[in-house]
Amino acid sequence: MSERTITVLGSTGSIGRSTLDVIEQLSKVEPIRVVALTGNGNIGLLAEQARATGAQLVVTADEKRYGDLRDAVAGTGIKVAAGLSGLIEAAEMQSDWVMAAIVGTAGLRPTLAAARRGANIALANKECLVSAGDLFLAAVKAGGGRLIPVDSEHNAIFQVLEQDQRHALERIVLTASGGPFRTWSREQMANVTAAVACNHPNWSMGMKISIDSASMFNKALEMIEARHLFDIAPARIEVIIHPQSVIHSMVGYTDGSVLAQLGCPDMRTAIGYALSHPLRPTLSVERLDFARLARLDFEAPDEVRFPAIRLARLAMERGALQGAVLNAAKEVALESFIDGRTTFLDMAEIVEHVMDLLAELPAATSMDAVFAADAEARRLAREAIDRRAAA
Ligand code: NDP
Repeated sequence: MSERTITVLGSTGSIGRSTLDVIEQLSKVEPIRVVALTGNGNIGLLAEQARATGAQLVVTADEKRYGDLRDAVAGTGIKVAAGLSGLIEAAEMQSDWVMAAIVGTAGLRPTLAAARRGANIALANKECLVSAGDLFLAAVKAGGGRLIPVDSEHNAIFQVLEQDQRHALERIVLTASGGPFRTWSREQMANVTAAVACNHPNWSMGMKISIDSASMFNKALEMIEARHLFDIAPARIEVIIHPQSVIHSMVGYTDGSVLAQLGCPDMRTAIGYALSHPLRPTLSVERLDFARLARLDFEAPDEVRFPAIRLARLAMERGALQGAVLNAAKEVALESFIDGRTTFLDMAEIVEHVMDLLAELPAATSMDAVFAADAEARRLAREAIDRRAAA
């Protein structure tokens, strides 16, 4: 069996750590080597991962932490780099696979660099498709690598979407847990803190995606991600609340059949599938116990309590750069919520306000246009937050 090589962008995060666990499991049956690892602030863990895997290059996105990282791997021979140029160097190093697991828009440039050089990409970072959509897909195509979704919903759809039956594809149904506030009124959500909002009932994830799950902005991003990934009209993308998070998503066909992928809520299944495609690996993850599970529940999403779903539809309807605008404004509003400057409910209002201000942007023809729209949306979101704080 020939050796496979992999780089993990965002190795210190929730997906990154699960990826290294999966790699360790896979390497028991096949030769697999880690080429480069990247992180940001968690230097201790990053250095430990680099030492354990024997990576050739380790990178912190934070230039100020370069010295700390260099000291932490001193004597190992592991090359150290920092900042955006370091992230891009990691992405451009020769490896068969790149796991794209940096959180937020910060992941776009490095993942794009990996796509352009033709790496196979396991895509956890949904922001690449939300912000850059077809341009990102075009870069993957031009590079010649494969793109396999890791986001559990998209990975599920990827598993059950029969490519030779695309003509019979009627709809895709994204499941959503509903997050910690599924049954809460708007009044109850008005004063929640970030610590409460990131307490997800089923999945163990990074802080930002956990809060995005509570506001359902995570589902909004996933709707836009699915639109690009599966080239499907927005009207054919449904969202259903499924509190147990056992069905990870479904595909409906013209004969009335619905195919679903089920599993325990553990990202290692999706990661393992993405890294092993087209084969299924053997993974040590919890198995579903149907008798114990007993039931699966569903309910329609409430777009009044969770406006993010409506905003995703609006963004897809308007097209052009609205995905980039929605995502950038959301990231700024989310950071402001984490800092205690913005309330939980204000986040959607700020995003909608910025989307309205930038509703007429022309379709993106270059990545520069994506980055410009992203920057302008951030500026307008900050302005709106400052105005609210001053009022
Ligand atoms: P985490 O917050 O747990 O980890 C994020 C990773 O990105 C860490 O390695 C972090 O470094 C690094 N990072 C943070 N800021 C920067 C920056 N400015 N530049 C470069 N690297 C940075 O996130 P998750 O693992 O939860 O999520 C990663 C991506 O995967 C997100 O896009 C998320 O939406 C997506 N995803 C996550 C799922 C999950 O279950 N967690 C499920 C589906 C998709 P450090 O920790 O060292 O600071």
